[in-house]
Amino acid sequence: VFTLAIVGRPNVGKSTLFNRLVGKKLALVDDTPGVTRDRRGGEGRIADLEFLLIDTAGLEEGDVGSLSERMKAQTAQALKEADIALMLYDARAGVTPMDEHFAAWLRRTETPVILAANKCEGKIASVGFYEAYALGLGEPVALSAEHGDGLADLYQVLVETLKEIGIDPY
Ligand code: GDP
Repeated sequence: VFTLAIVGRPNVGKSTLFNRLVGKKLALVDDTPGVTRDRRGGEGRIADLEFLLIDTAGLEEGDVGSLSERMKAQTAQALKEADIALMLYDARAGVTPMDEHFAAWLRRTETPVILAANKCEGKIASVGFYEAYALGLGEPVALSAEHGDGLADLYQVLVETLKEIGIDPY
């Protein structure tokens, strides 16, 4: 079993993806006041791949183009606990300054990062999808958290990443 943290700016679909991967097995695990108040943990699953999932949704937006201290603290905590971080962005909105800040920060962490473009219904890439190549986090996985599209691709990338870091996924 490994731990996956869903990170990214508000409104990219983190909660929606969390709910889809966790289903009904929701568990609240946080007891650190302030830092982890809005963080949710649960048991996630894609096909036969099971993992612990940390959601960092429920964060407030900071000043435009920056990350609020709270958002940083929540994300840092999630990254500390996670084997892999899944950074979501909104492919319909394209890459925003806040996504760039997030990516710059994630590029400096030790935790391996998988980049996923959300709101790609039918895995169809909108113009905003391609902007994310500039984030320096590799090729994005096209997802629709709302419709469940792209989960097989996410599965594939997760298994590859686990192999790279020497974790047996099963
Ligand atoms: P969070 O703030 O990152 O947790 O984002 P939410 O999960 O609350 O989603 C933000 C908004 O995006 C909501 O209105 C969702 O319904 C919408 N949304 C989430 N996933 C998708 C998706 O795959 N496709 C589309 N079209 N909308 C989505």
